[in-house]
Amino acid sequence: MIQKQEILAKKIKELERIGDLINAPEWLLGELRTPKTVLKMKIRASVAGKPTILNPICVLHCNPYATGASPYKGGLRYHPSVTEERLTVFGIDMIEKNALARLPFGGAKSGIPLDPSQCSETELRDITEQMTMEMLKYNIPHPDIYVPGPDIGTNPTIMFWMYVKIAEMNHFRNISNVAATVTGKPVKHNGMPGREDATSRGLLIQLKEFLRLSQLKLSYSPTIAIQGFGNVGANIVRLMKDEFPDFRVVAVSDASGGIHNPAGLSIEKMEEWQKKHKTFAGYPEASAISNKELLELQADVLIPAAIEDQITEDNAHVIRASLVYEAANEAITPEANAILYDRGIPVVPGIVANVGGVVVSFIEWSKNRGDRKHQVDFAEVKEETLSELTKIMQQVIQNVWAKSTELSCSLPDAAHILAMETIRDGLREKHSYQD
Ligand code: NAD
Repeated sequence: MIQKQEILAKKIKELERIGDLINAPEWLLGELRTPKTVLKMKIRASVAGKPTILNPICVLHCNPYATGASPYKGGLRYHPSVTEERLTVFGIDMIEKNALARLPFGGAKSGIPLDPSQCSETELRDITEQMTMEMLKYNIPHPDIYVPGPDIGTNPTIMFWMYVKIAEMNHFRNISNVAATVTGKPVKHNGMPGREDATSRGLLIQLKEFLRLSQLKLSYSPTIAIQGFGNVGANIVRLMKDEFPDFRVVAVSDASGGIHNPAGLSIEKMEEWQKKHKTFAGYPEASAISNKELLELQADVLIPAAIEDQITEDNAHVIRASLVYEAANEAITPEANAILYDRGIPVVPGIVANVGGVVVSFIEWSKNRGDRKHQVDFAEVKEETLSELTKIMQQVIQNVWAKSTELSCSLPDAAHILAMETIRDGLREKHSYQD
């Protein structure tokens, strides 16, 4: 297990390595090494019926655009592993993602070190409301300053609770477009049809384009293994049937372990089982496997869609997939990326693969900022959103593929280079940097 400070040190080392490749000015690395603002909060809550002090953190990392017109953007995470260091790393990922997708956002991340499964619904709502009240003291969330969205352990309901609290308190701030303070809201509460599965749908759209560009040879009836069965992982499995009817999902997992069936797994049966048992343990039509075994399976495509630090220098040598599509942020360490590249296994990094979530959040934020329209035809909105998502997901992978071909480098290196060049150009203009 990677220690908490180590993840940030590794990220910075990686940025420095990429910086060398593009001859980056020292000021660029200075901008990226440390966050602009870190807000540390304290709330008094109840967790599993016990009084508990919780410490929410919000990291506004760096914004190559004029804050005030282009806010910081990044998810809200409820997970025991949340630390300032981790949120800083994810804040850097967010700037890179926004740069790759050409979205006018800075990079941010917020979270609470908390296992939400320990909380009753009332406790979770109270925690969310208290954290929102603390943030409001610092004028965030705000459509022009910081706009959170869902991430691990949070969902549209939690985003809705935040939105309701922000709206209730709006008489102190009088923001005209208060709906644009939070994205990932439920559709009937100014959310965007298609936001919930946008990350997964975007990834599959992009995977198709990647297979076209790379002409990667897969087996006759390609197999896919997915780590993580939350918003991203479960939606990938759900959408596979329509998007990739020839593929077989042969393995899935959650935090408690996984299941494997070489003949393929049924999404309907898995969902029914998960709903009832909240774990894959005991699932009848497959063999039980550990998360470690899942990652090492012989599969055409491996999608880590759970949590960070899953493929490291310890197991990169034994990965047997033909392609790794990184859905979870930071699931593959820089060392593991280098090993997989040397072994000829292509890796599409998270900053490329999971950008669909923020793309649809951008559409939600833009619509919520503008004049409100009477919108009843959700199918039409979904269609428009899908068309924009498709265009951006394809463009991102096309640009990264072209860069990796031009420089004969790995896809993660190409993505970081493209992102850093865009961030450098934005910051240079914004702050009149003279190299
Ligand atoms: P989620 O909380 O809905 O699901 C996470 C899943 O991972 C659950 O099935 C959980 O059991 C599993 N998991 C947690 N810890 C694990 C461990 N140690 N080993 C194996 N499995 C583990 O979260 P999500 O929204 O699906 O996010 C998954 C990843 O995708 C995260 O890295 C997140 O930052 C990234 N991401 C999510 C979105 C989004 O729109 N939700 C957008 C971009 C990136």
